[in-house]
Amino acid sequence: MNRPLHVHVVGAGLAGLAAATALASRGVRVSVYEAGPAAGGRARSYLDRELGVVIDNGNHLLLSGNRAAMAYLARIGARDPLTGPAQPRFPFIELPSGRRWTVAPNAGRIPWWVLVPSRRVPGARLYEYLALRRLMRAGPGETVASLLAPGALARRLLEPLAIAALNTMPAEAEARLLGAVVAETLAQGGAACRPLVAREGLSESFVHPARDFLASHGGELRTGTRLAAIETAAGRVTLLRFAGADVALGPDEAVVLAVPAAVAPTLLPGLTAPDAFEAIVNLHYRVTADLPGGTGFNGPAGGAGFIGIIGGTAEWLFARPHVLSVTISAANRVVDRDAGDLARTVWPEVTAAAGLTTPMPAWRVVKERRATFAATAAQNARRPGPRTAFANLILAGDWTATGLPATIEGAIRSGDRAAAALLDPDTAPQTGPNPA
Ligand SMILES: Cc1cc2nc3c(=O)[nH]c(=O)nc-3n(C[C@H](O)[C@H](O)[C@H](O)COP(=O)(O)OP(=O)(O)OC[C@H]3O[C@@H](n4cnc5c(N)ncnc54)[C@H](O)[C@@H]3O)c2cc1C
Repeated sequence: MNRPLHVHVVGAGLAGLAAATALASRGVRVSVYEAGPAAGGRARSYLDRELGVVIDNGNHLLLSGNRAAMAYLARIGARDPLTGPAQPRFPFIELPSGRRWTVAPNAGRIPWWVLVPSRRVPGARLYEYLALRRLMRAGPGETVASLLAPGALARRLLEPLAIAALNTMPAEAEARLLGAVVAETLAQGGAACRPLVAREGLSESFVHPARDFLASHGGELRTGTRLAAIETAAGRVTLLRFAGADVALGPDEAVVLAVPAAVAPTLLPGLTAPDAFEAIVNLHYRVTADLPGGTGFNGPAGGAGFIGIIGGTAEWLFARPHVLSVTISAANRVVDRDAGDLARTVWPEVTAAAGLTTPMPAWRVVKERRATFAATAAQNARRPGPRTAFANLILAGDWTATGLPATIEGAIRSGDRAAAALLDPDTAPQTGPNPA
């Protein structure tokens, strides 16, 4: 179709917001419809009344090599949205021994850090690092576990990174997806591996500036507006049926469908999309006092603001404004456990990692049951490209075929790609780079 004059974006997660802001920045009229009470989808912050603080639904870590995410933040004019250590550093603690180390890649592309004891993974042998090359060259269907050399590097770095990035256990996770992350971050040198988190909260960094950007570019964002059905005729979308109101589409109008994988096939019967999911569990503990230094976690001397925990139930601990927040990924294995039981199991691990001796404070457990699609070969093969059978309907979302796992970077790239498919249909990629 010709460049549309008006685009209807359904779903105001980061994929939808990326598409909407990219289109608005090029002068297209944009209407965004979001089923929930606020935009942000799976990356949002909100006031938890019981804890009395703003929390993120889940800790979200980005790396400085996430170029689409950085470009999106620049586009929406987010002011100083991210924070992290000045240099790439990943502190770890192993339980129950309490042994600590910090992985600190050097800035350039030649990875001399793997030779320096104070920067590398303790006990890792040089040949184990060859796994990184194998991951980047992985073929279809190979699992992460099959390409790692058993040893300290796998146990103390690569498996925890794989679980965090893919939200799937290494024995099942498809290696190509991790290889794509490695190629864009670690393999580019430390400058692409600075760990970054939202400074105040996810909504403050990624969502509110996008909302304001849309408003200042003549766009509209309607929350509490759920799409119930899509009507089509002659190979085009002709009507969007919302509860209570229909939107008829003229010949110069198009749709970006940026809803989650579990929802898209209900609106587009016959669409193949991922249908197996993994949970992520986050535990937030309210803290009032300053944290002690010297742990590599939050100390004044270059603390990273987070720490990896090996050998516990907790996997990552983040120091967020007024809360200590724990992430457990690939969490189908724990998601049905009682929340209080989980909070009590994890608190001693938090005190060990953060160097605290205080009793367990007020806590909140957030269980995201469908946090991401399961990053297996079978599920990766179900990811569609952006184009559909309908000329004016484009798909976006972290579950579409981006070649990346379900991440902020993947979601934003899918939104950018959807916008490009409408604005520059001749040059935009027709499918994702990784359909099986
Ligand atoms: C707990 C957790 C931790 C994570 N940690 C990280 C991390 O550390 N780093 C990282 O990069 N990524 C992380 N992710 C992944 C990241 O959050 C997602 O990849 C990204 O937010 C997905 O964005 P999206 O726009 O594709 O989908 P979504 O955010 O799901 O957006 C889809 C939107 O569509 C709306 N919608 C659904 N149905 C309808 C309908 N019928 N009509 C209108 N609107 C509808 C939904 O309400 C939602 O707002 C994490 C995810 C979770 C859940």
